[in-house]
Amino acid sequence: MEQPELRKNKVAKYRAKFDPRVTAKYDIKALIGRGSFSRVVRVEHRATKQPYAIKMIETKYREGREVCESELSVLRRVRHTNIIQLIEVFETQDRVYMVMELATGGELFDRIIAKGSFTERDATRVLQMVLDGVKYLHTLGITHRDLKPENLLYYHPGTDSKIMITDFGLASARKKGDDCLMKTTCGTPEYIAPEILVRKPYTNSVDMWALGVISYILLSGTMPFEDDNRTRLYRQILKGKYSYSGEVSGTAVKVRGLETRSPPCFWSG
Ligand code: ADP
Ligand code: MG
Repeated sequence: MEQPELRKNKVAKYRAKFDPRVTAKYDIKALIGRGSFSRVVRVEHRATKQPYAIKMIETKYREGREVCESELSVLRRVRHTNIIQLIEVFETQDRVYMVMELATGGELFDRIIAKGSFTERDATRVLQMVLDGVKYLHTLGITHRDLKPENLLYYHPGTDSKIMITDFGLASARKKGDDCLMKTTCGTPEYIAPEILVRKPYTNSVDMWALGVISYILLSGTMPFEDDNRTRLYRQILKGKYSYSGEVSGTAVKVRGLETRSPPCFWSG
């Protein structure tokens, strides 16, 4: 457990990084997530006492700016029960603060680690909710491109909680009449579809591939494609080489390959 004093200092550090316009309205409570360009904090709206999450993205560098633009262009368009809702946005010279609905139930990732694997019935419930959200996104011409258990959040800590899709930093949103094929090579290695790896123009079905990988993980507690060496990992994916020996029951299963989180990659061009 972290010392309360240490935690207080950490929160104080993050508070100092926040624009006064943000802290005037929201009280920063705790750091709940961090990525390459972002920090996510739990906050409380000072007037209503309602809890929210704020994702702060550094936009000083090009990558941060691009991630932020993708994320905002999607979040501003969506409203669905299985997708995190954007509340408001604050922009400064080199930072963007997105105030979002707070999911308090943690990542699907952590529940898989805790449970080892899911029963078919539980896995189906999870996938049904994710699919509802993904279907909605695809209807709007949005491809998420980074679906994985770290980006699927439980709304509350209960076992009956709904799941919400988050993190639209790699998402692609097509405008009406736009060509529907995408070219950017991006995603998280273990979840990347073969058509992206061979650098062919691809469609929103890359999200369905990632959902296949997630389904496999839910049922078996292991990764379908796994290798510390990227080249060998990609070779496995291209061959579609995996084996599945059926649902594993019980919680004592070792969650192979899932202990570490892979960060997303982005190769432009
Ligand atoms: P990154 O682009 O850095 O991966 P994410 O949007 O995925 O950023 O946020 C990082 C982590 O922060 C998530 O995996 C999750 O644990 C936490 N997080 C993000 N948004 C929320 C939210 N609205 N409610 C609760 N936790 C969140
Ligand atoms: Mg993420």
